[in-house]
Amino acid sequence: MDTTTTDDFTPAERARGRALRRAQLPWALGGRLTGLALTLVLGLTPAGAGLVSAVGGWFGGSRTAEVLAGAAALVVLGQAAQLPFGAGARTVRARYGLVTQGWAGWALDAVRGLALALVLVLPLALGLFALTAWSPQRWWVSGAGAAAVLVGALSFLHPLVVEPVFNRFTPMPEGPLRTALLALAQRDGVGIRDVLVADASRRTTALNAYVSGLGATRRIVAYDTLLSTAEPREVELVVAHELGHVKHRDVLTGTVLGAAGAAVAVVVLGLLGTWRPLLEAAGAADAADPRALPLLAAIGALLGALSGPAQCAASRRIEARADRHALELTSDAEQFIAMQRRLALANVSDVDPPRVLELLFATHPSATRRIAAARAWRAEGTSADGTPGGPAGESTDGPTDRSTDEPTDGPTGGPAGIPPKPVV
Ligand SMILES: [Zn+2]
Repeated sequence: MDTTTTDDFTPAERARGRALRRAQLPWALGGRLTGLALTLVLGLTPAGAGLVSAVGGWFGGSRTAEVLAGAAALVVLGQAAQLPFGAGARTVRARYGLVTQGWAGWALDAVRGLALALVLVLPLALGLFALTAWSPQRWWVSGAGAAAVLVGALSFLHPLVVEPVFNRFTPMPEGPLRTALLALAQRDGVGIRDVLVADASRRTTALNAYVSGLGATRRIVAYDTLLSTAEPREVELVVAHELGHVKHRDVLTGTVLGAAGAAVAVVVLGLLGTWRPLLEAAGAADAADPRALPLLAAIGALLGALSGPAQCAASRRIEARADRHALELTSDAEQFIAMQRRLALANVSDVDPPRVLELLFATHPSATRRIAAARAWRAEGTSADGTPGGPAGESTDGPTDRSTDEPTDGPTGGPAGIPPKPVV
């Protein structure tokens, strides 16, 4: 059984994906590291405390003014520091024909991203410091519960509050493709009313699809670029993969794990936020002091960065399971491979990235791995009973983490994707 076939892509196709990844990596990595370094400098030196006092002073210097203005300053500085890197990554992607949006649109997206971040972060900061004022030593007990509830609420509200900021969504028009997709969902026992189409072509030529939301807000979204360029049967394979996410409740699992992660993070914040040497380094009296805000942000950012590889590993397992679901539902490894090829070529993916980058940053298995897995699945099914189609029975492994397929183009304008994310 050959699962290491390498001729799915020509040397030129491989080289193009690799070249884009190499050109984009310094921008993407630089953006992340710069953002993290800035957060750490502000949080672990008195610089952040000085910033909070200064901007709070512009608005009267009350505790509330320090919390709100301090949080806003941290958000604005963090986004501003990453902006040049986002612009650099965009320039590289434009060279590869992946960008359809002008700089004005890009700048507007950055403003939208900033506004959204402020809308989310400012009430969070107010709530956090209401808790720390109420109980400077034990605030994290109720804080952990509140963080978990917030993650659940945000996951539910994401399709209603976040996604419409960047895209318009329309139901897929009536026609043979829509009929085929709804029939596929019905055969899978998944109740969906519609597949939504996002106007991704206003920004990019890249192809993608994803599942988001919970319960009443759950939706399957396909990029309009996918519908306008892929063969109908390839779109069916993409939707079959997304149905796998729905069937296995990957968004819910990811939300529950995200909520647990947030609760643990708050407990760590609570413990470290009372540690005298840290508070002294940050120039804050205690956790109830608004000048501790940069320290708490720094610890949070560090925890997020450290948990990244584990989140990516969980995501890759979930994606592999959704791939398997697509194969079992359609019994069509050939079209699955055609679909993977189209996604990789349209998105100029590095189809076989260095293992270390995959381990650190990849939310999806590489195209090479996904195609090899499809061949292995087909070979297993053929050898078992002589007919095409894979092994029966679905995996029951319990993985983790956010299951939405993040768009390859971070709509927030940040340097999204290290390396360029595979999709679907
Ligand atoms: Zn997926």
